[in-house]
Amino acid sequence: MKLKVAIQKSGRLSEKSLELLKECGIKVSNGNRKLKTSAKNFPMEILFLRDDDIPQYVEQGVADIGILGENEVLEKDKNVDIIERLSFGNCRLSLAIPKDDVYNDVSYFQGKKVATSYPKILRKFFLEKNINADIEEIGGSVEIATSIGLADGIFDIVSTGSTLLMNGLKEIETVLTSEAVMISNKNLSSEKSEVLDKLLFRIKAFKNGTRNKYIVLNAPNDSLENICTLIPGMRTPTIMPLSNSGWSSVHSVIEEDDFWNVIDALKSYGAEGILVLPIEKMII
Ligand code: ATP
Ligand code: ZN
Repeated sequence: MKLKVAIQKSGRLSEKSLELLKECGIKVSNGNRKLKTSAKNFPMEILFLRDDDIPQYVEQGVADIGILGENEVLEKDKNVDIIERLSFGNCRLSLAIPKDDVYNDVSYFQGKKVATSYPKILRKFFLEKNINADIEEIGGSVEIATSIGLADGIFDIVSTGSTLLMNGLKEIETVLTSEAVMISNKNLSSEKSEVLDKLLFRIKAFKNGTRNKYIVLNAPNDSLENICTLIPGMRTPTIMPLSNSGWSSVHSVIEEDDFWNVIDALKSYGAEGILVLPIEKMII
């Protein structure tokens, strides 16, 4: 029983989606850009689709799971579950207006016209804010809508903001932050759920690995207790005596985000020779 996974055929998420499967030890070859292919060493079939179509296909069970931007999932609003956040494809959906316009608050949009490819998300936002605006749905090149006189403002994906600047716009409200997510059909068979659990287990191990670092350091024995409190690791740190007495080598795992915060404290406890190494997979 193969788990059918839909990923973006070509676009910003394609490569990262394949990379994620590869990091999970799943071998996929798509040399000649087929519409679908089977994994070599995992019960999985991969379907290459436009991201816009993925929610519908997953809802209908044409695919069992899919990888795509959360923005697209929310816009399509299909009956699917978001089962994992994938920490890539980060972007935000924002409102932007001509850069010389004065903007105080969202009431700016009262009675105005806004062009977007995400009408559903925008409609919901305006409804929550009690704004009555015209939403002009367009398929692409949203950023030129104001300069060609189609709309007063736009609502679109922003990552760095340079496209907005080039088109004489300024970002004034972030409505949604998004990343790639995995969605699932709501009625998977128990066999498919089992395969999916295996996949999710591997994804978590990979995600934990990228989020954490292996740390090795030398410490004077009298500060071991303090150091172990700072870097408790998965259970407790490993401590090995160094050949010169009074010193030990401490091995542990820390979250990368914490690293720069604990480093000064470690040094103040006399830690030396600190090495920080990447972790490929981490099973907790
Ligand atoms: P398709 O042909 O599959 O419909 P597309 O043109 O809709 O592709 P892409 O531009 O490849 O889509 O973007 C896919 C997703 O990548 C977006 O929906 C969003 O979640 C994410 N993304 C991340 N950063 C950006 C960015 N700077 N611009 C656009 N999308 C981004
Ligand atoms: Zn698309």
